[in-house]
Amino acid sequence: MPSAFTSFNDVRPEVASFESYEPGLSIAEIAERYGLGRVVKLASNENPLGVSPRVREVLCAHAADAFRYPQSGNPRLVRALADFYGVEANRIFVGNGSDEVIDLLFRVRAVPGVHNAVACRPCFGLYPTQAKMAGVEFRQAPLKEDFSFDFRKIRDLVDENTTLVLITSPDNPSGRTASAEDLEALADSLPPACLLVVDEAYVEFAGEGTSLLPRLDRHPNVALMRTFSKVYGLAGLRIGYAILPPAIADYMWRVRLPFSLNILAEEAALAALRDEGFREATIALVRRGRETITGALRDMGCDVVPSSSNFMMFRPPAGKTGAADLHAALLRRGVIIRALRSYHLPEWLRVNVGTDEENALFLRLTREILEGKA
Ligand code: PMP
Repeated sequence: MPSAFTSFNDVRPEVASFESYEPGLSIAEIAERYGLGRVVKLASNENPLGVSPRVREVLCAHAADAFRYPQSGNPRLVRALADFYGVEANRIFVGNGSDEVIDLLFRVRAVPGVHNAVACRPCFGLYPTQAKMAGVEFRQAPLKEDFSFDFRKIRDLVDENTTLVLITSPDNPSGRTASAEDLEALADSLPPACLLVVDEAYVEFAGEGTSLLPRLDRHPNVALMRTFSKVYGLAGLRIGYAILPPAIADYMWRVRLPFSLNILAEEAALAALRDEGFREATIALVRRGRETITGALRDMGCDVVPSSSNFMMFRPPAGKTGAADLHAALLRRGVIIRALRSYHLPEWLRVNVGTDEENALFLRLTREILEGKA
């Protein structure tokens, strides 16, 4: 077939359809713009405790190894994850954040122009972008009005060309969780060529019994994705992983860039897995902060979606300061939360749990702004 390109500047149509990425202001830029001594970021669902001291020690101890390539295939981390979760090592895949896992799943499991993928609307923004990049049709089943999952609508979008269904539980941005029973019923109803991927990036913050992990043996067509970015506090090091059907894990390893998980990230992940105290402290802090923030926002008249995660989605009361103005007013006072315009939810905002002191600051400022006192 002749090339449709006529210039060395041409790119694939999927690539040409991407908008330029506009990074938000950094913490330092916001501090400078508004003349602030301190900026609190509660916008990216990061860990309120920062990096665990034990992981810091390990990172420093291994700084001198940075001249070496990591061991291709990250066998130590694979082994550690398999032991930690009690699954066969041949099911584990690790990548440069779950972002890389998501990207590769589209490219490995869907033929461009033939297959399609199904997810919810709204959903985590990377799913549609990576589907587009892979040339894969992306179908979205709207969530119910209360932001819970509509499994009938999800199932209705699946056809014989659907090779991936992606469900985020707890969901982002709503914080809602799907029950293990609903996920199992969905898995059982899918056609044989379809893989159900449950993105469990926030599952550690939800209650026992939320994850499909203990039920995986009964559902060979289910994959789970997780990350070190949230409960382990390592978002900046980019470490994600998945528990996959062994055949898919094998193909993912064959095509993954050999060194995508860097040598310090691997050491940090190994140390973080062993650091049960930090994980427990994070979960306790998040659960406490979630209750406090949810209760206080409701007292202010906000709608708050019940969350099992480390963030809450909320809507300011009608007739008072709207979401965009509240977001801007908080920013001017040094608190960054997430506006949800890009999720097509302009009336809603998302705030993640911070330290007790950060939560108190966010709540005090929000109350003042909503009451018109600020
Ligand atoms: N899935 C969901 C639902 C997320 O919210 C995020 C991060 N915000 C990711 C995946 C990506 O995680 P990672 O940092 O491991 O790439």
